Amino acid sequence: MSKFEELHKLKDEMEKDNSLPLKKGATKLVFGTGNTVAKILCVGEGPGATEDSTGLPFVGQAGKLLDKLFPLAGLERKNVFITNIVHHRPPGNRDPLPNEIEAYGKYLDKIIDIIKPKVIITLGRFSMAKFLPNVFISDVHGKKFKVDNFIVIPMYHPAASLRNGHILEAEKNDFLQLKDILSTIEL
Ligand code: URA
Repeated sequence: MSKFEELHKLKDEMEKDNSLPLKKGATKLVFGTGNTVAKILCVGEGPGATEDSTGLPFVGQAGKLLDKLFPLAGLERKNVFITNIVHHRPPGNRDPLPNEIEAYGKYLDKIIDIIKPKVIITLGRFSMAKFLPNVFISDVHGKKFKVDNFIVIPMYHPAASLRNGHILEAEKNDFLQLKDILSTIEL
């Protein structure tokens, strides 16, 4: 089975899983999308209203900013696969809870297992904490870390950049530096 087919099968499985804690309040599952043979996986936090209604990750305001940040690193959406730490919208866009992160985590682990990325770019502190627990995003943003078989690069969440001009400047700089980091990795 190709990675595309494996991901489709997993998405079907997830759609049928009524135990997922945020399913009831959500419209659509936001499984993830992009290049299924990508070596770079981006992991965001959770769907917002636009993602909930379309079923696609990062298509609202934060996604529009992400589309402007990617080229600073020499990237486009077609170079990456994008998913989230939870795949249904938390009510009112609240932060995902630990039990929710755990419940969706088993599917995220399977997505990672299928994609087998070399680089994982985390967007925001919740996805960062999956790979780099006990660190502050203000200390580690834009740096690279070897975690298991991956290189993990934690980035600020684009929604944080939309709220705070200083974070936006730091994030633009991190994406510019990301280009240099990626140039040292055989992808
Ligand atoms: N924010 C996220 O973290 N993920 C999305 O898919 C959209 C906004």
